[in-house]
Amino acid sequence: MNNKVENIDNWINGHYEKPTKGLRLEKYNPHSGELISLVADSTSEDFERALMAARNAFSDWSNTSPVARGKYLFRIAEAMKDRKKILAECVAIETGKSLKDASGEVEASISQAEFFAGEGMRLFGKSLPSGVSDKYSHTVRQPLGVAALIVPANTPIANIAWKLFPALVCGNTAIVKASENAPKIANLIAEITDYVELPVGVLNIIHGQGSVVGEVIVADARINVISFTGSTNAGKRILQLASSNLTRVSLELGGKNPFVVCDDADLEQAAHWAVLSAFSNAGQRCAAGSRILVFESVYEKFMELFIGKTKNLKLGVTDECDLGPLINKSHQRRVLDAIDRSRPENEKLICGGNIPDEIELKNGYYVEPTIFADLPLNSELIKTEIFGPVVTVNAVKDFNEAIEQANSTSYGLTAAIHTKSVDRAMHFAQKIRSGVVNINLGTYGSEPHMPFGGFGDSGNGTREPGTEALDVYSELKNISFLVRKDLL
Ligand code: NAD
Repeated sequence: MNNKVENIDNWINGHYEKPTKGLRLEKYNPHSGELISLVADSTSEDFERALMAARNAFSDWSNTSPVARGKYLFRIAEAMKDRKKILAECVAIETGKSLKDASGEVEASISQAEFFAGEGMRLFGKSLPSGVSDKYSHTVRQPLGVAALIVPANTPIANIAWKLFPALVCGNTAIVKASENAPKIANLIAEITDYVELPVGVLNIIHGQGSVVGEVIVADARINVISFTGSTNAGKRILQLASSNLTRVSLELGGKNPFVVCDDADLEQAAHWAVLSAFSNAGQRCAAGSRILVFESVYEKFMELFIGKTKNLKLGVTDECDLGPLINKSHQRRVLDAIDRSRPENEKLICGGNIPDEIELKNGYYVEPTIFADLPLNSELIKTEIFGPVVTVNAVKDFNEAIEQANSTSYGLTAAIHTKSVDRAMHFAQKIRSGVVNINLGTYGSEPHMPFGGFGDSGNGTREPGTEALDVYSELKNISFLVRKDLL
């Protein structure tokens, strides 16, 4: 247990800086409720300093060859491996995850660094034939300038990794606006970049509130690209603020992801993946499978298995636990309020719905894994992302109704179907409105080399990470030249 309250300062131009106005936010341990840090509550003055550092560093960094930039990322990956335990402990304490889950997240972030390090040797353009004889054309990728990278706390080191590494390998300098709910992990990454001697100013970290310094960052015309992961409402606000500057914006937003169980599914497997999809990370996943749609004919059998497994879940932060607390007290309140608003709709609260009563959880921001069945299709819990351990289950009469309901929200991030039929799986994959489709798996996200992103309210059409992230962080230039035969 960490009893010392730390100050978390901004990282600007290669060193820590206290917030100019001396303002601080309180960050609590989600499991124990203890105050663990006082986080810089930055203002426009702090942002200005970070921006100057990032702009000053841009010329040299963008002129460093992509291969050399990739080598810095390799060194960052190696340094992350050496500090794996420290990084995982930090993620675990700040988010309330088990050390096992936090270690998995650190591993994924290291893979992200390795993948984009390799991209330094590629950064492919295209060679294009011309309609004009003796004219030759090709495209190159060039950096944009200063990238503002704004991240949430649910998988804090992975969120930073999937933006920072492609942004840097493409030759941009960066200002990371860390999550106020997981601030320290961003500084540990900054210290690693210092250790590998990344030139100062290439990475800067600003802490503080989205509605304060976050808005200052995204509204500034000197920011050349914004990559934001967070809620749909904040994404829409950011797009508005950035639009008058025509700043490029990549939005990775919320989800209300359907999980379909067909009558030919392996129900034991389906229930296993449904529990993981709905409740891992306490449902604080954009990819959470928060809407389960089950064929009528297997509904009872599936529910028996699903409810049984849900009731067996263990809450807490040790490695034997299945889910931890929510990120902070006000989010716990929001989730409980959403549950309470659905109670009068009918009596279909199957299990959960409360703060658990175990004594060892009493100081944390826990909510029991909660299942609602057969809520009306226009219910808040079916239409809106809750970002907590709350799932709805509805029966559907057949495959067509399953697709219709699966596509009935404004989101479109991930989807899963459980079936033994190749035809159903393929048809579902083609017809579902979502950026990720998984067959006989959970509603999980991508791997470092795979594109992730969503339709509708889940994003604005960009995909990160994978090589598709290179399109977010680079400007494409088409270069043509004419061979003068008369000069040969
Ligand atoms: P949030 O939108 O409240 O905050 C995310 C980050 O944005 C924080 O750093 C915050 O300070 C900043 N921010 C908030 N409002 C801002 C504004 N107006 N201007 C600039 N910055 C602003 O989200 P959260 O509650 O921290 O995270 C949960 C949300 O993130 C969920 O909706 C979840 O689905 C989404 N999410 C999406 C993905 C994805 O890849 N699609 C991944 C993880 C989380």
